[in-house]
Amino acid sequence: MKKHAHSIPGHSAQGLATRCAHAGAHRKDDAANAPFQPPIVQSTIFDLGTSEDAEAIFSGSRPGHAYSRFGNPTVELLAAAIADLERGSGALVTSSGNAAVLCAVIAALEGRDGPLVTHQDIYGGSFELLQILSSVCRVPVRTVDATDPGAWAEALASAGAVLLETPSNPLMRLIDLEATVSATRAGGAPVIVDNTVATPFNQLPFAFGADWIVQSTTKYLNGHSDMIGGCVVKREPLTAGNRRIHKNLGGTVNAFEAWLVLRGLRTFPLRMEAHNRNGQAVAGWLGRHPAVARVFYAGDPNHAQSALFRRQMRHGGALLSFELKGGAEAATRFIDRLKLVVHAVSLGGLESLATRPAMSSHRGMPPDARRRAGISDGLIRLSVGVETIDDLTADLDQALSTG
Ligand code: PLP
Repeated sequence: MKKHAHSIPGHSAQGLATRCAHAGAHRKDDAANAPFQPPIVQSTIFDLGTSEDAEAIFSGSRPGHAYSRFGNPTVELLAAAIADLERGSGALVTSSGNAAVLCAVIAALEGRDGPLVTHQDIYGGSFELLQILSSVCRVPVRTVDATDPGAWAEALASAGAVLLETPSNPLMRLIDLEATVSATRAGGAPVIVDNTVATPFNQLPFAFGADWIVQSTTKYLNGHSDMIGGCVVKREPLTAGNRRIHKNLGGTVNAFEAWLVLRGLRTFPLRMEAHNRNGQAVAGWLGRHPAVARVFYAGDPNHAQSALFRRQMRHGGALLSFELKGGAEAATRFIDRLKLVVHAVSLGGLESLATRPAMSSHRGMPPDARRRAGISDGLIRLSVGVETIDDLTADLDQALSTG
């Protein structure tokens, strides 16, 4: 069975490009002459009406709004659009990707014993968040080397919940979603997949049985490097308990930022086609460059996990890492010589970005944890944008030259 086909029942049969072009927009059955673009409902509060109306809204017996941290019409349009993209039953929009990870972890662990199982090479902010949960809140967290299938399967069997990234940031390692889900089945631990790097264009974790997806919408879903946001998507319908966690953690997003993501979603498939094309081209180009020692790219035909890649992903995406033969010193020189590619953290914007994870996104990870994860001081991470490919390779080439 082709798992990455949009084969999950209960969703619109329309193609991804169609659903994105109309995400959150006016529909034919809405009020006549309504604006096509959704309104930005920039209001903290909503008139509750009579006491009877208020009771109906608060009890949930009638749809309505009370306070924008609990729910906001613009934000709800974005939640529905993202749930549809990821083929889930519902989504909760958050003020950042980190807020989404926190919300998903707490919702997945609610009522469950056993540790949160995760792996070594995850995004540095998620690593630090889990460290805080573990040291301050005493949430049991078990960090495992997922490249050791025996250790991973053993940890999954007794997990309370699982948080994984595939491909992982920054080393682009893949985790077998189907095998992970089946190893947790006996214990019933929910599996949370951070799908930020792959995006729903390239990977649909629910098709492999994952329970939750988290996204930093800051990245490809918005795509314009002009806001911070996140979301949590659930395969099964969201419960009142899930919503209670979301609203009381407080990491909800405001209407304008939700609207920006809705606007970004319009071009998401177009951007992803360009990102995938450029990512593949730059990874190949770097692999042939004499100054480059190693390239880490999920879509590399020589990737050690290429069979898993073909089962699980549609394309390799546009995030990659590489090491230079000259090590950390050469990496510093390369970064400082870049002219077009921006030296910046983050990923998923139209513009190409380069950073050294050990100095930035993974700086908060202790050096020995970075070493265990395989993140060297000289590792460079490149978020390949949608620029004209010859301009990109020309900039990379002049930055790599030693002259
Ligand atoms: N997950 C991954 C894979 C990320 O790369 C990031 C940020 O870089 C996050 C989560 C956190 O997202 P945000 O910065 O929007 O909080």
